[in-house]
Amino acid sequence: MKITLLYGGQSAEHDISIISAHSICQAIMYNYYQVQPIYITKTGQWLKAPLLEGPSTSPEQLTLTAGDTAHWASAPGEVSSGVVINPGEIKVEGEETIVFPVLHGPNGEDGTIQGFLEVLGLPYVGAGVTASANGMDKIISKRLFDNSNIPQVPYEAFDKREWRESSEELIQKCEGSLLYPLFVKPANMGSSVGISKVSDRQELAEAIEVALKYDRRIVVEQGITADECEVAVLGNDDAHVSEVGKLLKESEFYDYEEKYINNQVIMQIPADLPEAVAEKIQDYALKAYRAIDGSGLSRVDFFVTSSYDVYINEINTMPGFTPYSMYPNLWKATGLNTRDLIEELLQLALRRFNAKQ
Ligand code: ADP
Ligand code: MG
Ligand code: MG
Repeated sequence: MKITLLYGGQSAEHDISIISAHSICQAIMYNYYQVQPIYITKTGQWLKAPLLEGPSTSPEQLTLTAGDTAHWASAPGEVSSGVVINPGEIKVEGEETIVFPVLHGPNGEDGTIQGFLEVLGLPYVGAGVTASANGMDKIISKRLFDNSNIPQVPYEAFDKREWRESSEELIQKCEGSLLYPLFVKPANMGSSVGISKVSDRQELAEAIEVALKYDRRIVVEQGITADECEVAVLGNDDAHVSEVGKLLKESEFYDYEEKYINNQVIMQIPADLPEAVAEKIQDYALKAYRAIDGSGLSRVDFFVTSSYDVYINEINTMPGFTPYSMYPNLWKATGLNTRDLIEELLQLALRRFNAKQ
């Protein structure tokens, strides 16, 4: 069996995808699969890199050589070897494959690539079309969480047209129902891109303009002083949850730079929480997963206050997968190593695919 690894992509999270893909590729090859890397450039070109063979000796001896990974090296977008293909060419008649889309953010985690793979008739890892779209869209997911009675911080949602027509009323509405500081977010993004924390009306208006550069739809949320805890979910109808992890961070706003560039985040797994609180978080995580119609995997993120009030923040259907990422480390702490985790994800992809045939 050959695994087709899709990575890079046109989103702001391109670089993270490359690091995740590298790590996933190692794990796939440990499992004796061949890997067909397909790198999607920032401009949307699909490049087929040379096929990587699984290990011929002991899996422990496997390390990707510089040559193997030259095409996805640290300079994203620069592919030294690879041929340009039409996206549809990832399907090769008579050849069996499972696609592993290691793509974060819009055009990757939002149901678009998933829909494309459905149309091609290829099995793929992770959430399906509906769950991906639901999970990526912060407005839709909030409505679904409300519907499942999962606590959230107060929020307002509106679109560009409403903002252009009645910005004064919208500011008043936000100030009427929410307490500063506020967080302004584009509905469809990730990795803190386009998100601002604001503490007055002028900053709020400016932050909305910034967020509107990324999406037509906006969420404004009440800011909360809390720890951030995360849980991993794995499975289809039989989904189960990992231990809870906590982010120990230096600054209060965990932004893109801190998350991925300065690497200033330390994870505490399992989180130091009363058992009942951890169980509540796990219960909400499963509810959230079902609310969006999750399958494959997700990481569900929470705020936990000093008095142990729990609020869901968001669900990520394709969480970061680097060796330092929360998702694989939560499973490691729960007794599932990354190799077995990847194997389980591939099996879940096949099971969902076969159930539909
Ligand atoms: P993304 O999908 O980009 O990760 P998040 O909604 O998780 O977006 O926001 C990014 C980060 O911003 C969070 O991890 C948290 O540190 C901070 N944050 C977001 N919303 C709030 C809030 N309402 N109160 C306090 N901090 C927040
Ligand atoms: Mg997110
Ligand atoms: Mg987040």
